[in-house]
Amino acid sequence: MSEKTLNPFKIAQLQLREACHALGEEEAVYQILSEPERVLEVTIPVKMDNGSFRVFKGYRVQHNDASGPVKGGIRFHSHVTKDEVKALAMWMTFKCGVVGLPYGGAKGGIIVDPDELSKGELERLSRGYVRAIAPIIGERRDIPAPDVNTNGQTMAWMVDEYSHLRGVGQTLPAAFTGKPVEFGGCLARKEATGYGVALMIREAAKYSGLDIKDLKIAIQGFGNVGSYTAMYVQAMGAAVVAVSDVSCCLVNEEGLDIKEIMDYTAANKILSGFQGKARQLDRDEIFKQVCDIFAPCALENAITSETVHDLKVGIICEGANGPTTPEAEKILLQKGVLIVPDILANAGGVTVSYFEWVQNLHNYYWRFEEVQQKQEIKMTDAFKKVVELVRTHAVDMRKAAYMLSIKTLAMPMRLRGWV
Ligand code: NAD
Repeated sequence: MSEKTLNPFKIAQLQLREACHALGEEEAVYQILSEPERVLEVTIPVKMDNGSFRVFKGYRVQHNDASGPVKGGIRFHSHVTKDEVKALAMWMTFKCGVVGLPYGGAKGGIIVDPDELSKGELERLSRGYVRAIAPIIGERRDIPAPDVNTNGQTMAWMVDEYSHLRGVGQTLPAAFTGKPVEFGGCLARKEATGYGVALMIREAAKYSGLDIKDLKIAIQGFGNVGSYTAMYVQAMGAAVVAVSDVSCCLVNEEGLDIKEIMDYTAANKILSGFQGKARQLDRDEIFKQVCDIFAPCALENAITSETVHDLKVGIICEGANGPTTPEAEKILLQKGVLIVPDILANAGGVTVSYFEWVQNLHNYYWRFEEVQQKQEIKMTDAFKKVVELVRTHAVDMRKAAYMLSIKTLAMPMRLRGWV
């Protein structure tokens, strides 16, 4: 299959196949994990502001609940497909497995361009989606969260709708995570994915015999993940020499002032037009910057067989989901580049979502520092376990991360008598 035709679900199955093979795992484990347990396709009628009706199509996919309830975000996007949701659900299972969360993976999506809808229409669509998937979700079954184009407000509407469906007068915040802090959300959730990427960069540097304080880092994407990654690696002593977004790339070989840039994007949304100490280049110049570590934190398929040749780094830490194509990865591994894979590097988000769920179930809330301390322990433990598998099985980090996940999942499947 060529780089362009490979569909995300096939990529996920391929990664699973290779890891099962490296582990010598029995065929039944691959068979169970290679397909989701449940795929629900729903139609959602929405009354539009002008009085007409539009019918939207949505999905909820539950991949594997051997380790516990399933969990995963809900995406509102015009390009949502059933196969994409299936792949994302599968990746969620492996992500939870790597960090040892008592969850399996799930994912949801609605085919919609949210920019075309008013706030009221979005609320009715969100509530309609909850009514459609209510029979299969719940705080002990399947706990959705935000994903592309959904946010804390979407989750608040969904909790409200779901609470009413389960019985008027109940409030069930643990049924969804990623809620606003004022409504059962978790402190340090907003920062969690970027903080986790920064922790993994620090650990990868240490593993490579380097000190993060001596390193130069370039970060593609300056949204939630990229900006907090930049903020935390800088706080750890690294120099962030380049950041990019959809509009441009900012470069300063001495190190950018990340706080100043974050203030700028908070007001202006994009990097373009920033007047501080930085040169402004085309956005893809980010791949060519001289640095030690590259963190793709934008979208999937960023490092391809074309862009890979511009990269001259020793470490790549994947903040985005699926940023490196299998072809590009082969080239990087041949060059000896250490790739910290997405299912480990960006697992901070789901880790802190897990903490949110635990706090909701107990109705007892933790301090910001307490959340970050717990996240650091989970993620650095996972990093150690992955590199142990790299050593013992002589495999790359991605394969090792999948192997760790499959080992974690296969045990409850055996104990439950599934294989
Ligand atoms: P976001 O929308 O906040 O930010 C995305 C950023 O990427 C924006 O700055 C955008 O301008 C930039 N971008 C888009 N196309 C680009 C291009 N061609 N070149 C350079 N920059 C480009 O999204 P986010 O929440 O930061 O998510 C980023 C990635 O991380 C996605 O792959 C997402 O699935 C993944 N992820 C996010 C979380 C989370 O908690 N937010 C958790 C796990 C994984």
